[in-house]
Amino acid sequence: MYNPKSLKSDEFIDHSEILESLEYAEANKNNAKLIDEILAKARLRKGLSHREAAILLDCTLEDKNQEIFALAEQIKKDFYGNRIVLFAPLYLSNYCINGCVYCPYHAKNKHIARKKLTQEEIKREVIALQDMGHKRLALEAGEDPINNPIEYILECIDTIYSIKHKNGAIRRVNVNIAATTVENYRKLKDAGIGTYILFQETYHKESYEKLHPTGPKHDYAYHTEAMDRAMEGGIDDVGLGVLFGLELYRYEFAGLLMHAEHLEAAFGVGPHTISVPRIKRADDIDPDVFDNGIDDDTFAKLVACIRLAVPYTGMIISTRESKECRERVIHYGVSQISGGSRTSVGGYCEPEPEDESSEQFDVSDKRTLNEIVKWLMENDYIPSFCTACYREGRTGDRFMSLCKSGQIQNCCHPNALMTLKEYLEDYASPDTKSVGESLIKAEIGNIPKDKVRQIALDNLANIENGSRDFRF
Ligand code: SF4
Ligand code: SF4
Repeated sequence: MYNPKSLKSDEFIDHSEILESLEYAEANKNNAKLIDEILAKARLRKGLSHREAAILLDCTLEDKNQEIFALAEQIKKDFYGNRIVLFAPLYLSNYCINGCVYCPYHAKNKHIARKKLTQEEIKREVIALQDMGHKRLALEAGEDPINNPIEYILECIDTIYSIKHKNGAIRRVNVNIAATTVENYRKLKDAGIGTYILFQETYHKESYEKLHPTGPKHDYAYHTEAMDRAMEGGIDDVGLGVLFGLELYRYEFAGLLMHAEHLEAAFGVGPHTISVPRIKRADDIDPDVFDNGIDDDTFAKLVACIRLAVPYTGMIISTRESKECRERVIHYGVSQISGGSRTSVGGYCEPEPEDESSEQFDVSDKRTLNEIVKWLMENDYIPSFCTACYREGRTGDRFMSLCKSGQIQNCCHPNALMTLKEYLEDYASPDTKSVGESLIKAEIGNIPKDKVRQIALDNLANIENGSRDFRF
């Protein structure tokens, strides 16, 4: 029985509710009157239910689809302005005891190089990341209680936060590790993590069990209820995601939004972020064996419909996607992207020889962070290295009330400009710096409050004089 408040995965991700929603969407996909009503609701910027959003996703009426894309673009602008937050993944260990059939780190892959970073190696990786200009990381590790126990992850987080190299600092560490216990989530919270990220991979239970034939991840309920345990452990910023291509995208879309509705209903806080990865080629993995791949047009529609359904939730896209694809979906709702990423263990210090690959997936966007920063600015986006909310204790519902109060422009915007200024001073190439300086001059006037604008101007001058780490 469907119940978004329930803490049982079968009830908040109810299979029949998804099937009924998809049938309803199919029956109404060209119902112009109903689509107009849903679009009118979306214009209120308070979100849509999974059923309503499913109709928009299925809609084949050309004029309505144009409205969907235009509204997604407008909502993106209203909530996120023209800022794009940048981060990088850091792979700690690819030891894994699970059998996920779409990931090269699965336990049966005997020819992939297995690596686990020592604390010394982490220092070198983090210095390399700081030297690129990164301030925000997403930690990645396989599930292996012997090689990667929680104590190892906690030690790594401590090491990462402790490294101060030149003007560099990692100010926010998000963590993407396997589903775990409330006690371990509490330890992660105490270690000062930002967001806890866990991809569901697929919400379709039967497929899930086939795609995860062995290892603890096989347990659908334990995995699907992980965010509830994370919330119970005090982590109120959680990041959802599915791996598009494993199951039918319409099913995943409904499941993803039901998961978001569940978190809101049960804990009063929706997901902090949603990631939208698509399955990619990797060692031992041929994406063509999965039948449910989605084309770029469908992918863009998914992003736009997620934007309308959960306007307050950040959306993340990684370097799995090409420059062209990223450029397109940034318009419709993506608010965070990774840059200069290496998806192998130790890859920031030592690029790997071809025959010793430990990459989790092939990177499509291989540009450096400097190139990405310049590209964003040339496309009128402000690259942001902001980490302010988490450091000011604005997580969970406090973060959501910042979004809902409309004060985000007085907070995110100056923070983006100040962190960009730091980047330009410390890491940018001369031509990136010159594009950035003009952008900051042009954008400073877009801070609505006079007082905030004046403080930001003073801080920009202070940054030029060598001070760092200002935030609202
Ligand atoms: S997806 Fe994660 S849990 Fe599965 S094999 Fe890869 S690293 Fe292990
Ligand atoms: S101020 Fe908060 S919401 Fe805005 S970019 Fe910074 S961390 Fe994100």
